[in-house]
Parts: sequence; C-alpha cells; structure tokens
Amino acid sequence: AAVEQVAAFDGTGLLADGTAIPLLANVGGAADAVAAAEARAQGIGLFRTEFCFLDRAEEPTVAEQVAAYRGVLAPFAGRKVVVRTLDAGSDKPLPFATAADEENPALGVRGLRVSVAHPALLAHQLAAIAAAGAAESAQLEVMAPMVATVEEARDFAAACREAGIARTGIMIETPAAALMAAELFAVVDFVSLGTNDLTQYTMAADRLSAPLGALNDPWQPAVLRLIAAVGEAGRAAGKPVGVCGEAGGDPALAPVLVGLGVTSLSMTARSLDRVSARLRTVTAEDCRRAAAAALGAATAAEARSAVAAVLG
Ligand code: PEP
Ligand code: MG
Repeated sequence: AAVEQVAAFDGTGLLADGTAIPLLANVGGAADAVAAAEARAQGIGLFRTEFCFLDRAEEPTVAEQVAAYRGVLAPFAGRKVVVRTLDAGSDKPLPFATAADEENPALGVRGLRVSVAHPALLAHQLAAIAAAGAAESAQLEVMAPMVATVEEARDFAAACREAGIARTGIMIETPAAALMAAELFAVVDFVSLGTNDLTQYTMAADRLSAPLGALNDPWQPAVLRLIAAVGEAGRAAGKPVGVCGEAGGDPALAPVLVGLGVTSLSMTARSLDRVSARLRTVTAEDCRRAAAAALGAATAAEARSAVAAVLG
C-alpha cells in the first residue's frame, strides 16, 4: 500500500477555522530537545527531568542540574518550556530517595510523593530549574507528577513560588485529581493530563502489561469522561488544560481531546506532522461533535467508530 504523505508541521498548530491549538514536544534530554526544535515544536510541553537523576548513587548537585537543564532549554530560548519535577519511584527507582521493597510500587511513594518525603530534594531541583530558566530566558512553567490531593498541589505551588517560579501546574494522572480539577485550578495556573498514568489508574491496569493492552486505552469511555471533567473545570476557571500522555500524539484522538476542552497537545516530536495535519481538517465545532459522540459511547470500540462516523 502507498505510504500516506503528510505535510510537515509548519510550527503553528491550527484547526481548520483558525482556532490555535499549540503543539508542543515531550523531551527527556538535550538530544530530544534539538530534534523537537527541528520538528518545529512550539515549545516543550513535558520535560521529563529524570534523566539527570537515574543511575546516580547520590543526588546530583544544583550546579550539575542547572547545566543539564540548560542543555534542554537552550534550543527553546524565549519559548514555553514546561519542566516536570522528578517523577521517581515505581519503575524509576533512585537509591538515595526511593524504597526498593514496596509491594505495589505504582501505588507507592512515587512522583510528587518522593518530593514530599524529601523536601530538600525538591527545593534543590526547583532552584536549579529557576536558574536554568533565567539563564536561557525560557518561558518557564513547572509542574508536579502524580498529584492526588489539593494539599499536595497547594504545597507544591508554594515551594515553586519560594523558588521564584512564576507559573506552576500539576499533572492530572490520578482519577482523584481529575475529579477534584475545579478545586485544583484554584491553587495552580494550569494542568496537563498524563493520559498514560490516568488510564492505568482509572482502569486499574498496569500500563506495561501486554495482556492488559485493551484496558490501557485512552479511548475507554471512563477515561474520556474524566478528561471531559477536567476540560470543563479548565473552561470554568479560564485556565489551560494540556495533554502530555501518548494520547496527545494520536491523530484520531486529537480532535476528541480538543472537543473535550484540551487547549494544547504535547507529544513525541515524530507525531507533530500527523497530528497537525489532522487538526487542520477539523473545526472547533467538529471537535465538539466528535467529543460528544465519544462521550456517548459505551465501549472504546464504539467511541472510535462514533468519532469516525462524525468526522469521516
Ligand atoms: C503520563 O503518565 O501520561 C505521562 C506523560 O507521564 P510518564 O509517561 O512520564 O509517566
Ligand atoms: Mg505519568
């Protein structure tokens, strides 16, 4: 079969009616950031900072962190970069901060919970992020992974303010956070849906399990309904709702996410061309109709076919 030709992303995410949907990149290090800039990503929507910490016996110094973060920020000088604080624990153990003997590590001390247990680790990282952002004149935003409560978000935002970080957000990766989105928006400037973990925790299915692949599907109506609740809360608060899980890079799902209230999408740089090409073919009204069709479905398969029927 002929390979479908897709126009290269031109650096401006737009719907057919001119609605702007910024398309950003997920990066895990300097090489990814260079590739993302070459692919014309409008910014970085998820900078996974773990690379600086993994395989280390001790916490990296603030100076080491500043140097590592500057390498990622440099290709995006003057543009938006959303830095995620350390998401250790679970499948990403750290000898100096995480416990090795948890029975249920995905439900254990991971993500922001590691930072709560080690406040100095978070303070050092925030200082390094702020210094790197200033040195590279990035439009810096900082967010926390694996938030479950409003107190966690409030304390994180306070720690960011103390470090001089102007814009603070959280990832929505737990059903608890999705259900509390309105209250969470009262204490943060933006949210970003981590659909990989949100799907895993909503469906109670390990995201790395091959036999559970059908459950780990962001088209599952239960997941779509949680995303809709977050989109609605974002609209009510007048604050941005991003997606930075794999779902954001799925060209078939992107219009649905926009219709559910998502205002920007972050993805692996390779997906930018296809997602931008798809979004150029639909209007905001098409996206709303696609989202309504998906929300009315009883199964993931029905959601896919209902959206295909609406959008063609
Ligand atoms: C997610 O969970 O969707 C996410 C973006 O974070 P990670 O894949 O790094 O867990
Ligand atoms: Mg995650």
